[in-house]
Amino acid sequence: MGIGGNYGELLKKENLRNTKHRNSVIEIIAGNGQPIDAESIFLKLKEQNISISLSTVYRVLETLVSKEIVSKTSINCDNKALYEIKDAQHRHHLMCVKCKKMLSVDGCPLEEYEKALEDKLGFSIKGHKLEMFGYCQDCKQE
Ligand SMILES: [Zn+2]
Ligand SMILES: [Zn+2]
Repeated sequence: MGIGGNYGELLKKENLRNTKHRNSVIEIIAGNGQPIDAESIFLKLKEQNISISLSTVYRVLETLVSKEIVSKTSINCDNKALYEIKDAQHRHHLMCVKCKKMLSVDGCPLEEYEKALEDKLGFSIKGHKLEMFGYCQDCKQE
């Protein structure tokens, strides 16, 4: 889904009014290329001369998360929650502890392991979180 694409449709499907604020927040998250925190979203909206308060950004995010349009990543950057567009794709994140850059990696190595655990423990696994920390290519050279 491209930036400025069918987010209106997405909102409509969830019976949400297609407000400028909601649309703009989704566009920023989608266009950012990596998970982003509420404050950065707020600053980017300001740059675009969109008048919104930080508390409204949080409220919009809450709505979008509850409608499963946006998801909150389990990774915390300086104790700030990070948000990304939720899609069917299950992915994991790598975070650089130095520059805070985050990479999303597609695919999951844990499916086999989940199955094995389900068999062994009779547990019905509905999901998991796996985040990796370290130094990115730029930072590890120093
Ligand atoms: Zn780095
Ligand atoms: Zn996984």
